[in-house]
Amino acid sequence: MVRPRIDTMLFPDGKSKALTLSYDDGVVQDRRLVALMNRHKVKGTFNIGSGILGVKDTADFGKAPVDVSKVEADEVKFLYAGHEVAGHGLYHSSLVDVGTPAAMYEIIEDKRRLEELVEGCVRGFAYPFGAYNKNAKALLRLAGYEYARVVPSTGTFELPTDFLEWKATCHHKDENLMELANSFCKDNTPFRRPQLFYLWGHSYEFDFDDNWNVIEEFLEHVSRYSDLIWFATNIEICDYINAFRALRYSADGKFIYNPSATAVWIEIHGKKYRLEGGTTTTIQ
Ligand SMILES: [Zn+2]
Repeated sequence: MVRPRIDTMLFPDGKSKALTLSYDDGVVQDRRLVALMNRHKVKGTFNIGSGILGVKDTADFGKAPVDVSKVEADEVKFLYAGHEVAGHGLYHSSLVDVGTPAAMYEIIEDKRRLEELVEGCVRGFAYPFGAYNKNAKALLRLAGYEYARVVPSTGTFELPTDFLEWKATCHHKDENLMELANSFCKDNTPFRRPQLFYLWGHSYEFDFDDNWNVIEEFLEHVSRYSDLIWFATNIEICDYINAFRALRYSADGKFIYNPSATAVWIEIHGKKYRLEGGTTTTIQ
């Protein structure tokens, strides 16, 4: 007799929480942000328009001018090592406000150049200006992108349902940032439901607002919970969730086949299982 059950996805090592950062535009302030993240062993994704790497610029937005120059192409691989480099459109054009061929070029030529720089596949994206539509999503899918981040935030720790419209938990300017971080780090997950904290922004904003302390305090706080939280890049989380969603079940749920190359953790009736890639596990 099969009992009613809920198969709960866990993150690697049986953790129920994951945390990731997503920072845009490849600006020089990323050097400071990456150093902070590395110190706290927090991982993230950096979304880069490869056609504007090395461009020198300042912006003032009504305040004192701030350097918004882009990092150099030849430092991308070293600077972001251990993190993910993702697409952000070749020249940061709005994919919905240029013709389809131009949008295709923005997507695919950015991907090609980034892949040359990092010497590997680039499979993540953030929409420039947060602008997207059905067409842009279809083009990204055809170009081999697995996910794309949008601008609206959820204020929650829910997992995305559509990876090509991946919404963050919040921007670092959110006034509830530390409140959210506190609530996330408490070990109070109902039924061990998996939770994801996804933070996004632009590192130059810390210079504009003179508030590097915001990200320092956030990283300092969450890094204390490394026994509960899986710190990962966007694509690592996307790949892992997709591996969970690809599990194949027998009719009675007794056998689960994991067709991916990644081990997947799940919890059934309070018991944790590590489902090895390419194997069938018998549920007791
Ligand atoms: Zn941008």
